[in-house]
Amino acid sequence: MAIVKHLLETKGMDIVRLGPDATALEAVQLMNERRIGSVLVFEDDQLAGIFTERDLMTRVVAAQLDPASTRLSEVMTTPVACAAAHTTLDELRKVVREKRIRHVPVVEGGRVVGLVSIGDLNRAEHDVQEQTIQYLSQYMSRA
Ligand code: AMP
Repeated sequence: MAIVKHLLETKGMDIVRLGPDATALEAVQLMNERRIGSVLVFEDDQLAGIFTERDLMTRVVAAQLDPASTRLSEVMTTPVACAAAHTTLDELRKVVREKRIRHVPVVEGGRVVGLVSIGDLNRAEHDVQEQTIQYLSQYMSRA
C-alpha cells in the first residue's frame, strides 16, 4: 500500500519555511521563486502555522492589507493539520478532501520531514493508473 513516506522519497524532502515575522510579500516572493503554493511558518524550530495562496487572496488581498507590512503571524493558519510518514495516500486524500486543504506537512519523530501537496497526490495516483494500464495492456496482448 502506498504511504506518504514513499511519496516523499520520490519528490524530495525540501521544506520551504519562514519565520512568523516575515511579511506576506516575502512569502509570495519565495513561493513564486520556488513555484509552490504554500510556506510553512516556524517559530523556535517548531511548526507554528501555514500560509498558502488562498490566505494571500482571502486574508491579505481581499482584506486590503499591505503585503509588505503584514506579518505572517497575522495571516497564517494555525494549528496545522499534519500527516505521519506512514499515513496511506488514501487516508491523506480523505484529509485533504474533508478539510478542504491542498498542503499537508509530514511529521516523523516529532520533526517536519516534508510537505505533500494535492499536486503530489494527483501525480502519484496518475503513476499508479499508468502502471495498471501498462500491466493490463501487456496481459491482454499475451492472451
Ligand atoms: P490550501 O487549499 O492548501 O491553499 O488551503 C486552504 C486554507 O486551509 C488556507 O487558509 C490554508 O492556510 C489552510 N491550510 C492549508 N493547509 C493546511 C494544513 N495542513 N493545516 C491547516 N490549515 C491548512
